[in-house]
Amino acid sequence: MPWPERAAVVDLAAIRHNVRHLVETAAPAKVMAVVKADAYGHGAAQVARAALSAGASWLGVAHISEALALREAGIEAPILAWLHTPSSDFSAALAAGVDLGVSGWELDYIVAAARAQERPARVHLKIDTGLGRNGSTAAAWDAFVGDAISQQDEGLLRVVGLFTHLAVADEPARRETDEQLDRFREAVALAEDAGADLEVRHAANTPATLSRPDAHFDLVRVGLGLYGLSPFEDQTSADLGLRPAMTLRTRVAACKEVPAGQGVSYGLNYITAAPTTLALVPLGYADGVPRVATGGPVLIDGTTYPVVGRIAMDQMVVDLGPGIAAGSLLGAEAVLFGDPAAGAPAVESWAAAAGTINYEVVTRISPRVPRVYIDSEAGA
Ligand SMILES: *Cc1c(COP(=O)(O)O)cnc(C)c1O
Repeated sequence: MPWPERAAVVDLAAIRHNVRHLVETAAPAKVMAVVKADAYGHGAAQVARAALSAGASWLGVAHISEALALREAGIEAPILAWLHTPSSDFSAALAAGVDLGVSGWELDYIVAAARAQERPARVHLKIDTGLGRNGSTAAAWDAFVGDAISQQDEGLLRVVGLFTHLAVADEPARRETDEQLDRFREAVALAEDAGADLEVRHAANTPATLSRPDAHFDLVRVGLGLYGLSPFEDQTSADLGLRPAMTLRTRVAACKEVPAGQGVSYGLNYITAAPTTLALVPLGYADGVPRVATGGPVLIDGTTYPVVGRIAMDQMVVDLGPGIAAGSLLGAEAVLFGDPAAGAPAVESWAAAAGTINYEVVTRISPRVPRVYIDSEAGA
């Protein structure tokens, strides 16, 4: 297949493999594929379809607008959206059959939409068990649940789920997760005593799905793992049985011999120590490669080189060393990251170079980079 000269290549077979693995790990709990932020940069509709075909039962997004885009793409699976403002289009969510995460204030808006459409809204009540972001406080939970149940009795709501979100599940030894799960179990018991007849209780993200079976409840919400990436500092994708789905690749745009003392890129922070050959790689911060990530790896013609000098808007430079003829690698494939099991640099190396996490590196690959979908199992 002719690739565009810059591409984030997404292997849908890797997504399916990861989903099957996560479905097995979570069973008997079901899997919600979290495809917010355009599926962490991988393409929401494509990933959603692949995940559903491999056994995911639900889709999760932050914003109602993201849920509506999935519906417009023809996807009919259950979808939960959980992050709202008073400007969110609750009516559209209701009309599109999107489940809504509710932390408190949203209830009035949703009830108004339900009354207007004469159709009950499906809601998942969220409790803040320690993360300090969304979710009802423990102090307000009793009244919140009472309020929701009375709207349910009026026929305006169906309280189908309860959920919470974990703060430190990527560090499995930390006690705070136990405390969060204790508080969640208490909140569930209280809601059930108040008359909630729940389809799903859910708390786990990817790290909790992989390390805390006691956090699985009825449903796990996995994002990062779908994409084949590890949430743990000390475990790789391969350690977890996951396959990174995205490969960021391009072609060398120039390859030239330079003398010792050649400055490289803005600021001239890198000066060649000896005669050498430089390769120009046409990806930069406008493509979502972090500007601070000097030293990040680029695989060219079987060798991995560090980026030298500053990363610019459109381009970066690698020093190929001596003995490489000018022009010899013009047009050669340059891979920034992909599946290390297939020889590509790990996205975690770019995260380390940028002082961030793998989540952010893939999610920020910009719309200027075409997404190309392959299926490495097609025909198999
Ligand atoms: C993003 C998100 C997830 C997915 O987290 P991962 O660590 O990527 O699995 C799950 N639940 C909520 C509420 C989220 O915001």
